Amino acid sequence: MNKAQEKRPQLDLAGALDLAPAPERVPVAIKKRYGHFIDGAFVDGTDAEDFDTVNPATGQAIAKIATGTADDVDRAVKAARKAYDEVWGKMPGKERGKYLYRIARRIQERSRELAVLESMDNGKPIRETRDIDVPNAAAHFFYYAGWADKLAYAVPGGYSPKPLGVCGQVIPWNFPLLMAAWKLAPALATGNTVVLKPAETTPLSAMLLAEILQEADLPPGVVNFVNGAGKTGAALVGHSGVDKVAFTGSTDVGRKIMRSIAGTGKKATMELGGKGAHVVFADAALDQAVEGTINGIFFNQGHVCCAGSRLLIEEGVAEEFVERLKRRVEVLRIGDPLDKNTDIGAINSAEQHKTVCKYIDIGGQEGAEVWQGCAGDVPAKGFWVRPTILTNVQQSDTVVREEIFGPVLSVLTFRTPDEAVAKANDTEYGLAAGVWSEKTSKLFDVAHRLNAGVVWANGYNLFDPASPFGGLRHSGFGREGGIHGLWPYLGGWQ
Ligand code: NAD
Repeated sequence: MNKAQEKRPQLDLAGALDLAPAPERVPVAIKKRYGHFIDGAFVDGTDAEDFDTVNPATGQAIAKIATGTADDVDRAVKAARKAYDEVWGKMPGKERGKYLYRIARRIQERSRELAVLESMDNGKPIRETRDIDVPNAAAHFFYYAGWADKLAYAVPGGYSPKPLGVCGQVIPWNFPLLMAAWKLAPALATGNTVVLKPAETTPLSAMLLAEILQEADLPPGVVNFVNGAGKTGAALVGHSGVDKVAFTGSTDVGRKIMRSIAGTGKKATMELGGKGAHVVFADAALDQAVEGTINGIFFNQGHVCCAGSRLLIEEGVAEEFVERLKRRVEVLRIGDPLDKNTDIGAINSAEQHKTVCKYIDIGGQEGAEVWQGCAGDVPAKGFWVRPTILTNVQQSDTVVREEIFGPVLSVLTFRTPDEAVAKANDTEYGLAAGVWSEKTSKLFDVAHRLNAGVVWANGYNLFDPASPFGGLRHSGFGREGGIHGLWPYLGGWQ
């Protein structure tokens, strides 16, 4: 026990934090099977090979999903081309903006249904889908609706920017609705049409979004969704009728896509993986930094590209900080994503559960002290990992170098700002980082030296549609959000 602990009165909290269940009760209609959304209509798809989308909190199938074939992709791209040539590409920005506002409002109106469906399909707590994913998705459409008639002000020097045509967009499973909004809103505001492939483990919120697009009277073909896994995604990005590829997902798949479209003239943006560093100086407000660290790595079960998965803590306060962190993490509630008290939901799939547990094992084998981990007090069914802290790790350890994409924090220490910066930048990625200090001069100095597309000061995982987001190095290129998020969808001015 250190000095700080000796001074602190030891409270007996046993039972004090037990809460009665607070189940979400809003019903949501789920069909038995979903095909695709092409040319304004739900269609069956041409392949007989359906797959299941599974509730990660129970391991039970929720619905059957069609596998998009090259023919389905071709139909969708042709519908998007027609809609671009005949309607959307010619429509004045002011009119396009009205559709985006309508979509945003309808997302708000159906927000509870979207939140419930997303929690069921993804495993993330309703507290997060209700308060973060869905409101941010609506905010993204509102924000870009405002740009639709002001594009001449979004680019320098009096040019008149033009849309690119048909966009092929592929998204991951960690923020299914939000990633769809990040992709669709700027593409539509700039006058492009879209074929989007949702992730294979989380297609349901896109299917509900398709209903919302119908309710908003969006002209047929402007947005098309084709379901399926990697093969369907490859068919989409490789289709000769696609003018721009927008991908969010792993660095490995991003590399494959870049190889497949090299020399085609297709424009591309890549939002890829990360290994964010969270740098905490001894002069920081430590309890706030503890909350920020938790938000940085355990939000959304750590399924966050910009997760602060490496904690760099100044040596003098390291022991006390980790002790405070563990005390706080111990009281996080893990369990039913549809319970409003739940902090930590389920891991998205059996496959991802295996990956996270494999990394925790590797950490232990390489010498890490593993706190919590995959075993222990978790629900009997479904896929769960308790928030895990790895201490006694080295810069060269696998768990420090590779993206785990789960609730696993590796803790390292430093003595000087230079050492903190050197360690934080010693990664192939460059998506996000955080710095904690009470000294603004130190915050600015360190933040400017960190190689990351986004750096938060005295905070983490803070998002706003007006603020650009994106990576450096193997975390990708291009920006989403803000005025910068319009540029990858515009031509005729560069
Ligand atoms: P993933 O790369 O396995 O899959 C992403 C999407 O690509 C899925 O829809 C998948 O079906 C599709 N896909 C797979 N192979 C393909 C191919 N050959 N061609 C075209 N599409 C293909 O990633 P994931 O496991 O779904 O998501 C996790 C990854 O996404 C993490 O690495 C995370 O960091 C990253 N991510 C990045 C950001 C960002 O903004 N930088 C945001 C969220 C997630």
